[in-house]
Amino acid sequence: MAILEIVKEPHKVLHRKARPVSDFGPELQQLIDDMVGTMREAPGVGLAGPQVNQLLRVIVVEFGDEEDDEAPLKLFTLVNPEISKMSKETVMGIEGCLSIPELVGDVSRAVSVTVKAQTRHGQVTKIKASGWLARIFQHEIDHLNGVLFTDRTDVIYRVEDLIAAEEAAQAEEEELISGAPTETSTSLD
Ligand code: ZN
Repeated sequence: MAILEIVKEPHKVLHRKARPVSDFGPELQQLIDDMVGTMREAPGVGLAGPQVNQLLRVIVVEFGDEEDDEAPLKLFTLVNPEISKMSKETVMGIEGCLSIPELVGDVSRAVSVTVKAQTRHGQVTKIKASGWLARIFQHEIDHLNGVLFTDRTDVIYRVEDLIAAEEAAQAEEEELISGAPTETSTSLD
């Protein structure tokens, strides 16, 4: 297994439509194994063919349960996936992408989806997903159509600004708890 290079914006492969897979031979098997390893190494919860410079309709997703941190992760390796049904109900959520590491954005997605796909060996399969898993599938399948999360929202943040804001909020909270200025901060005179 090899760790592949993850293509970053503004690489043009990220904006092209990927080709359907028809050959389920050893090359595809190798690519899927490498994509799983690359996703885990990143680490990320999903990866699509174009992100490793392969214009093929392949995605890998690994996710547990958003409400249970201890739940085991479930791995999906899907070939030629398509969203066959999606809920009308949508939900906003903060999304990032391994190909756009410095940004996150508020993206509206269907709450639940049904994904029709083939397994890595070509068998037809259908998956129903909701919540974060549904969001991940929508994000990864978008990649196969050359669509990035930044194409779906105008509400985009820089990751470093969010971290700075979070740290500032946390510092303020600590100050409120401890009651600044504290006794220990008296000057040495
Ligand atoms: Zn992505």
